[in-house]
Amino acid sequence: MTSLIDQFRRPLRDLRISVTDRCNFRCSYCMPADVFHDEFKFLHHDQILRYEEITRLARIAVGLGVVKLRITGGEPLVRRDLDQLIAQLTSISGVEDIAMTTNGFLLEKMAQPLKDAGLARVTISLDSLDNDVFRRMNGDKADVAPVLAGIRAAEQAGLTPIKVNAVVQRGVNDHTMVDLARFCKDNGYVLRFIEFMDVGTRNGWKLDQVVPAKEIIERIDAALPLERVEGNYYGEVAERHRYRDGGGEIGVIASVTQPFCGTCTRLRLSADGRIYTCLFALRGTSLRDPMRAGATDDELATLFAGVWSKRKDRYSEIRTEETAANKKIEMNYIGG
Ligand code: SF4
Repeated sequence: MTSLIDQFRRPLRDLRISVTDRCNFRCSYCMPADVFHDEFKFLHHDQILRYEEITRLARIAVGLGVVKLRITGGEPLVRRDLDQLIAQLTSISGVEDIAMTTNGFLLEKMAQPLKDAGLARVTISLDSLDNDVFRRMNGDKADVAPVLAGIRAAEQAGLTPIKVNAVVQRGVNDHTMVDLARFCKDNGYVLRFIEFMDVGTRNGWKLDQVVPAKEIIERIDAALPLERVEGNYYGEVAERHRYRDGGGEIGVIASVTQPFCGTCTRLRLSADGRIYTCLFALRGTSLRDPMRAGATDDELATLFAGVWSKRKDRYSEIRTEETAANKKIEMNYIGG
């Protein structure tokens, strides 16, 4: 099947599905607690897509070339019975991979049911092993221990390879990077350090808080010698390195200093059924409303195709301190 291509001839391959805008953490770089406080108005239940609706849209997207599905949020595990959605998505022929990104806090209980339902693998966000630093970054919502228990449960359930994502902020957690790298290396987890990004409009992003990928690698290499390795596939976001002693690999996702828009194959579906062509998009296109108004699969496919084929996004290549202030969509709404 030929994939749909956009204005830069990038094929549609990945659909990131946000199943909720809610989260049990308040990470400062995504949902700062002072903004997403107890009175914050999240999407109402009847505004968000039902699992059957998500599955229908995913099936249509697969018909247009999507092969990889990633479940995100907010925090996907705060949505009930997520394994039922996984089971539905697994029934779509043509899907090659179903993965999920989670903060791991609820993973200990859910790992096995998700695996049994067909989930292939998980990426756990863990910004530091230092409990004080971790609590400072997640809005004082959780300790490291339950997340580590979640990782172990995922490993025992066979949701492997285990990937760990860590957002690096200068002066916040960069002094704990080597400990986290050593922990992941010793346990065979694939760690990805992520440059702090100006997602949304609420995280107070400043360029001087970004630790560039080059510096991250130099600082890890100084303690745990590394060598660069080639990418796995077209559209891979992480720059890969392996430990010279054969102890596995590590990567950096450098959206700020080494943009990868040229091979970006990702479309995002928000919890209320809008599709977004970029993590830093200003607006999206609703598929929920025409779907609930009785649109056929062909009509929805035409909408999908129209949005992707007109796509020209390359935000990270044009980012400036000025564009950082653009009224971009919030990350808790469309997932990372
Ligand atoms: S900035 Fe937008 S276009 Fe570029 S890689 Fe990220 S999501 Fe893709």
